[in-house]
Amino acid sequence: MDSCIFCKIVAGEISSAKVFEDDTVVAFRDVNPAAPTHVLVIPKKHVGRVTGLNADAASLLGHLLLVGAKVAAAEGIDTSGYRMLLNQGPDAGQLVDHLHLHVLGGHRLKGLG
Ligand code: AMP
Repeated sequence: MDSCIFCKIVAGEISSAKVFEDDTVVAFRDVNPAAPTHVLVIPKKHVGRVTGLNADAASLLGHLLLVGAKVAAAEGIDTSGYRMLLNQGPDAGQLVDHLHLHVLGGHRLKGLG
């Protein structure tokens, strides 16, 4: 999608600190990290909000999680622990309307409660 900032990252029109890439997804460091390790894993193809996805998206969603786990291992936070999350909509603070998985770790993360 032309106006989508993450599509521009996929296209190389905006630079990013990439840590992983395959045919389907790219992972790069969040420009405004909320933890010592903060990586975003995104599909190369524009996919909007997780709400509204159907069963066709199951393998993509699974792949995002598996790549998130691979990134966490590469970052050395697989043993210390990490959090993977998807923000959805305004109450979750979603800023970018291109599906993205946050991988956060490297220090003790605050509880969600
Ligand atoms: P969300 O609130 O789930 O939509 O998260 C969007 C994330 O994208 C935020 O954590 C931003 O800091 C991050 N972000 C926005 N623009 C860029 C960019 N050009 N490169 C890396 N991360 C970005």
